Amino acid sequence: MALDSGAAHLDAAFVSVRDLTHSFGTVEVLKGLDIEVRNGEFLVLLGPSGCGKSTLLNCIAGLIEITDGQIWIGGRNVTWEEPKDRGIGMVFQSYALYPHMTVHGNLSFGLKNQRMPEDQIAARVVRVARILQIEPLLDRKPGALSGGQRQRVAIGRALVRDADVFLFDEPLSNLDAKLRAELRVELKRLHAGLGNTMIYVTHDQIEAMTLADRIAVMRDGVIQQLATPLELYDRPANLFVAGFVGSPS
Ligand code: ADP
Ligand code: MG
Repeated sequence: MALDSGAAHLDAAFVSVRDLTHSFGTVEVLKGLDIEVRNGEFLVLLGPSGCGKSTLLNCIAGLIEITDGQIWIGGRNVTWEEPKDRGIGMVFQSYALYPHMTVHGNLSFGLKNQRMPEDQIAARVVRVARILQIEPLLDRKPGALSGGQRQRVAIGRALVRDADVFLFDEPLSNLDAKLRAELRVELKRLHAGLGNTMIYVTHDQIEAMTLADRIAVMRDGVIQQLATPLELYDRPANLFVAGFVGSPS
């Protein structure tokens, strides 16, 4: 996809990645990648393992320094900003909760660090716990939770913070099929309730189709097509997209 560089173009996108290149040593993993994410949309980044999805998320979050290109969030060039200044919340594939803290403690920890008043913290924790259906578990410690419950807490821990953009890196891939299906429904509901911009990485076509407002199909360090699930299905840009979107694994 070619991007023009006019200012009007930047206004239309909430997250804009422009001509992004990233190499690990001599290996170029992101190869001049462009992507535009609209304000409030649930964008799924779909691609096979190893195509550079996690690398792209880490670049957007500022967790790795990019080789070349620009990253804009909310009309601001954040390319050289610290991760904490980018207005981003991130949920990783493997989650680590604080084992000695209760669910409430895990959820509120980051907010306490931000010196938020206690009553505000309590209100936020309850709101997110309610959406994720973990309110009855607030006094338990992680050791007394199932895998699915722990992953909900991990998602909740990112969501209680006020972020403009949430990045999810295959947050359900360690869970069994039934739980994945359940949490997909919850993530959809969550998005409807919060209205934040979401960028959600997966290699699972079904997950992409059910969650996304739009899907960016990625292969080998570039975006092949960015379109609604229906458009991808009806009018794939090339054979790779047709094959990848059309054949659930
Ligand atoms: P995906 O998330 O789509 O599975 P990744 O972004 O994790 O893909 O990886 C893309 C490519 O970059 C892979 O070939 C991977 O081996 C390589 N890679 C990822 N992280 C590093 C790193 N820290 N050092 C060197 N190579 C890496
Ligand atoms: Mg990955």
